Amino acid sequence: MACKTGLALNKPVHLFGAGHPMMFALAVALGCDLFDSAAYALYARDGRYLTPSGTHKLKDLAYLPCACPVCSSGDRKLTERELAEHNLWVSFSELNTIKQAILDGQLWELVERRCRHPALLQALRTIQEGFASFEAIEPLKRSFTYTSTESAARPEVARYGKKLSRLHLTGRVLITTNRQKTLTMEHKFDTILLMKAPFGPYPPELAETYPIGQSEVPDPDYASIKSAMRNLIEFIKSKNVEVTFAYDEKWDHDALAELSSFTTLLRL
Ligand SMILES: [Zn+2]
Repeated sequence: MACKTGLALNKPVHLFGAGHPMMFALAVALGCDLFDSAAYALYARDGRYLTPSGTHKLKDLAYLPCACPVCSSGDRKLTERELAEHNLWVSFSELNTIKQAILDGQLWELVERRCRHPALLQALRTIQEGFASFEAIEPLKRSFTYTSTESAARPEVARYGKKLSRLHLTGRVLITTNRQKTLTMEHKFDTILLMKAPFGPYPPELAETYPIGQSEVPDPDYASIKSAMRNLIEFIKSKNVEVTFAYDEKWDHDALAELSSFTTLLRL
């Protein structure tokens, strides 16, 4: 990240000595373009079998979870050379997976799936603390898939928060997490906004547009509500209007305390 902040975006970056396919997606997301590595051979020398999600000792594997020419030959006992070839096959295969994810606008989704080893997960979370700098160069997306609590900290969520400031508000505003429960009171308000975690408030007219409509998100969890509330708080603070926030029990969150100092809260 330090290197990238000092380099022009169009300069290719070569990452040395990072040869485990498990971390390629993260490295690419950080802006690395080229890899070289002896890992495939070094791991094979130790009898270690690489996969995009981790390393196995070949002798511990009852099945080979790979369909490369080496693994599909049917023999579980691989020579060192065959094991090295397998390791290289999965490395190339992972690069293709990453390239396709980039084309699909799903690189962060892939990174989150890959960063399940505790050290990689810690790396991803540390990187996310500096995500503000990613938002400026994040490509436009067509879809958003919530794969883990780390999804709530993606650059797209921060970008949505920034875009909210462009929303013009007038009169009395109701922001509701459950429209069924607030239908009977909506006539008392001039503007109705709905909530979707991890993004935050949105006008019903934008329900079908990206990212509100083009996002697959399970029921709100702590991390996704935290992000939605952060965007909500920034949004309300930037507007000089009277806001009522009506929420159901799923939305109980620490952030409500901060919200209550400048917003009317209504628990449904
Ligand atoms: Zn294989």
